[in-house]
Amino acid sequence: MKQRRVADSIKRGIRQHIESFTPVESHYCRKQTDRKYLPESLSLRKMYRLYQDSCKEQGTTPAMESTYRKIFNREFNYYFFTPKKDQCDFCTQYRNTSSKSEDLERAYQVHCAEKEMARQCKENAKMRAKSEPEIIAACFDLQQVLNCPHGEISSFYYHRKLSVYNLTVYNMGNGFGSCYLWSEVIACRGANEVASCLFRFITEHASQGGKIFELFSDNCGGQNRNRFVATLYWFLVGSIDAIESVTHSFLEVGHTQNENDSIHSAIERAARKAKIYTPEQWSAVARTARQNKPYSVQDMQLVDFINFKEVAKEIRNFDVTDAGCKVNWSKLRSIRFSKAEPNIMLVKHSHGDDYARVDLMRRKRNVTSAADVQLPQLRTTGLHLSAAKYKDLSVLCAKNLIPPAYHPFFRPCLMMTLHRPNVRFLEIRAAFTVTLVLYMYCTYVAIYHCCALAFTYLCSTHLL
Ligand SMILES: [Zn+2]
Repeated sequence: MKQRRVADSIKRGIRQHIESFTPVESHYCRKQTDRKYLPESLSLRKMYRLYQDSCKEQGTTPAMESTYRKIFNREFNYYFFTPKKDQCDFCTQYRNTSSKSEDLERAYQVHCAEKEMARQCKENAKMRAKSEPEIIAACFDLQQVLNCPHGEISSFYYHRKLSVYNLTVYNMGNGFGSCYLWSEVIACRGANEVASCLFRFITEHASQGGKIFELFSDNCGGQNRNRFVATLYWFLVGSIDAIESVTHSFLEVGHTQNENDSIHSAIERAARKAKIYTPEQWSAVARTARQNKPYSVQDMQLVDFINFKEVAKEIRNFDVTDAGCKVNWSKLRSIRFSKAEPNIMLVKHSHGDDYARVDLMRRKRNVTSAADVQLPQLRTTGLHLSAAKYKDLSVLCAKNLIPPAYHPFFRPCLMMTLHRPNVRFLEIRAAFTVTLVLYMYCTYVAIYHCCALAFTYLCSTHLL
């Protein structure tokens, strides 16, 4: 049977509709790929229905669902966001490889052993924390980015929204969860932000009798496994009397599921039917997401974020052990700091190894004591929105899809972004200056060579 040709204008309409969805921002440490993720709440069926609605609004005839699907699958590298870590990439690769090389076999054995040791280490910490109140065992994780506004309104799918971040800490000893929330105009979601939330969690628990802290997280280098979070621990054991030690262990890649996932699910469930316009409303949802042992929720402000990258300048050595071996940060499985030796960081590259010592003040003339360090605030003014987000949020306000009652919240964020130096203009001006300088240089070289040639010619013809 002859296939019916779909008109180019219809195909173009479908492409434009698919492109109008804004991909979700993922906090996970995915490798840089071209893949884009659409919100979990969307599906191809739902997108097609929204496409039909938009055709109706424009008075055009929609294409068949099969055509929409074909274009989506063939031309776009879009995936629907699924909650992380369902399956370990490496374990899947191992299972799907029929002829396994010796290297793959060995790497898989190490992976399984590390996974088991990390699990055991976490279980031991949990058991000890349950029986000894001065031991605080906790795991932490950033939730998938939350959005303002949030709700089942089709326009929200087509516009960029204000991002809200939520770092959750689950206390394995008593089963309580803490949430630290802030929006993207207050701070980003890097090492300083994670360390600042942990600072609050640890100091709060230290003031309630916590002495030994055992923390667990995934391996994200930008957020959890880095020098700046280590600097926080150095500061804590060296400056707060109550804190005896802080150990931070990293769960095996691909097997980092932990109790925070259930906090995140509870919040997502509670928000499913809700309309949310401001970060404070997200906090309210988090507060009431669990009836039994409600989560403690703290709204992080500008003053709560500390610049640990600045404090880290006091530390001379993060990279060489006392035995002269290199510290491989991307492979570290545990770090420990203790009051007995406040300027020593203990590190492990395998959960089965003994700790190796790293002298943080190695060959430093004036050794800094953490007790003398003043913690600098990360920033005193808020952050600007991107130009695209500014535009989209302005549209949502102008159309009253964000109700006027919430405009007083959005207006300052939008105004601040509006009044920043025009980045595009600065870029164009810089490009123009470089081009002008190059042009003048080329002209100068050309004139010089012409004169030299003319002079040589005249000399050779004995005219001079
Ligand atoms: Zn695995």
